[in-house]
Amino acid sequence: MSIADNLKHIRTTIPDNVQLVCVSKFHPASVILEAYAVGERIFGESREQELRAKAAELPKDIQWHFIGHLQTNKVKTIVPVVSLIHSVDSLKLLVEINKEAGKEGRVVNCLLQLHIAQEETKFGFSFEEAEAFFQSGQLVTLSNVSVKGLMGMATFTDDRQRVQQEFQSLKRFFDHMRSTYFPDNSNFASLSMGMSDDYQLAIAEGSTMVRIGSSIFGGRI
Ligand SMILES: *Cc1c(COP(=O)(O)O)cnc(C)c1O
Repeated sequence: MSIADNLKHIRTTIPDNVQLVCVSKFHPASVILEAYAVGERIFGESREQELRAKAAELPKDIQWHFIGHLQTNKVKTIVPVVSLIHSVDSLKLLVEINKEAGKEGRVVNCLLQLHIAQEETKFGFSFEEAEAFFQSGQLVTLSNVSVKGLMGMATFTDDRQRVQQEFQSLKRFFDHMRSTYFPDNSNFASLSMGMSDDYQLAIAEGSTMVRIGSSIFGGRI
C-alpha cells in the first residue's frame, strides 16, 4: 500500500478531535512530501539535526513536532523551528527551553513527558515529580514556554491490558492536573499518547494526539 493509502485508512480510524502527528523520523523528505500531498501538515521527528535539515528543505507550513529525548545542548537549534515539543522529560530541560525561547523572542509549546511504562529506560517525570512541579507555581515564572498538556509512552508489550491501564492512569492524572492547576486555562488540553500499535486503545482512553510512524511510512529504512 502507498503512503496515501495508509493515511486514508488511518484517517478513518481517528476522530476529528484527535490530532495526527505523522512520525517521519528516518524517512527522507521525498516520503514526507507524499503525506504532505494528501493534506498532512504535522510531522514528528526525534533527532534535532534531522528535524532542522528537513525543516529547511520542506514547505514552511509544516508544523514540526519534536518527540525524542532532547539534550539541553540541542535546545538552542531546535527552538526556532519547532511548533511543539512532546518530550520535555525534566525540569532542567524545560528551564533551558524557556531560556532559549526567550532569546528568540518566542513562546515554545511543550508537553511534559510522564514515565508510565514499566521499562527503566523510558524518560520522563514521575506523577509525583510532575505534580510537585505544577504545585510549586514555578511554571508562571517560565514565560517563554507554554505547557499544553502531557505525553506518555506505554510499555512495549503484547499485554493489551497493561497498555490500557497505563493509558488510563495517564488520563486520570491529566484530568486531575487540569482541574487542579489549570481550571481557568483551556490551553492545558493536549494528551499525547498512542503509536502505530496502540493508538486505537489510546484514543479509546482519551488521547487527543497520536504519534504514528510505521503504519504510515512503513518500517525503518
Ligand atoms: C518513533 C516514535 C513514534 C512512532 O512509532 P511507530 O510505532 O512507528 O508508530 C511515536 N512516538 C515516539 C516518541 C517515537 O519515538
